[in-house]
Amino acid sequence: DKPRLTLLGLGAMGSALARAWLAAGHPLTVWNRGPGRAAPLAAEGAAVARTAAGAVAASGLVVVCLLDHASVDEALAGADLRGKDLVDLTTGTPAQARARAAWAEDRGARFLDGGVMAVPPMIGVPGSGGYVLYSGSRAVFDAHHDVLAVPAGTRYVGQDPGSAALHDVALLSAMTGMFAGVSHSFALIRGGGLPPGEFAPLLVGWLTAMAPYAYRVADQLESGDYAKGVTSSLAMMVQGNATLLRTAEEQGVSAELLTPFTALMERRLAGGHGDEGTAGVIDLLTR
Ligand code: NDP
Repeated sequence: DKPRLTLLGLGAMGSALARAWLAAGHPLTVWNRGPGRAAPLAAEGAAVARTAAGAVAASGLVVVCLLDHASVDEALAGADLRGKDLVDLTTGTPAQARARAAWAEDRGARFLDGGVMAVPPMIGVPGSGGYVLYSGSRAVFDAHHDVLAVPAGTRYVGQDPGSAALHDVALLSAMTGMFAGVSHSFALIRGGGLPPGEFAPLLVGWLTAMAPYAYRVADQLESGDYAKGVTSSLAMMVQGNATLLRTAEEQGVSAELLTPFTALMERRLAGGHGDEGTAGVIDLLTR
């Protein structure tokens, strides 16, 4: 007696979502552009539609998880969306989500955008920490909450359809910085340090210990006092950056991943903010 839904897109993420809904007993209609990806899901109980339009017609709730904004345009071009609740889990920009919301409403559908904060192995695994950010129609979120909560946790972040994408991309951008740091770190170690497998636990421990730095920055931004609670001053850190850059040089490693950030720290210091932390860099970034 669980509600039926339709899912368009059976890539790595779409297939994981499909399996979670099937395992929870939801009748599920699926569609994928290329053949082959639907067959294993059919064996697990999914109904396979031949066309995207046919898949849309099968359910009131239509979830889309395709590569990008353009692929959603392509897939939904011939579908009748009147009276449908459309949930788009495709990663995109805030402006793309707002455009999709207007596009869906023009076609008679209610719209909810989603940003998946999980990788496929975290989907359908309670306690994995994976969740989906949602924004747009609160009515759609409330009406289908129990279905949406099956594959991952849910977090509604506002009526503006662009809000989920904004928060999604903010988190992914921080992750990108972390990946850059991890890459530079391993490049240094490769020139004579521990084997990567022995260094990795040190790296994870250090990044974990440093992550709450985000709370201090938040507190500084909210109070407007960028020196609040500072124990490592910008003046000291810029001095330390010289050691980071010189070590890269000594080890024969390009510093190109570090220098964009160290240059911003120097600019902020030159503006007379040596007693602050790094929050002032955010002012330099904001156009
Ligand atoms: P995949 O590359 O595994 O799958 C892409 C899907 O999009 C396939 O179903 C593919 O169909 C379909 N597709 C691509 N182009 C078109 C098109 N022009 N028309 C119709 N269908 C098309 O990607 P994922 O499943 O990993 O990712 C899907 C979305 O989920 C992305 O927006 C991604 O950013 C997001 N996401 C993914 C995460 C991950 O770790 N994988 C994590 C968080 C979000 P076909 O089989 O025919 O090629």
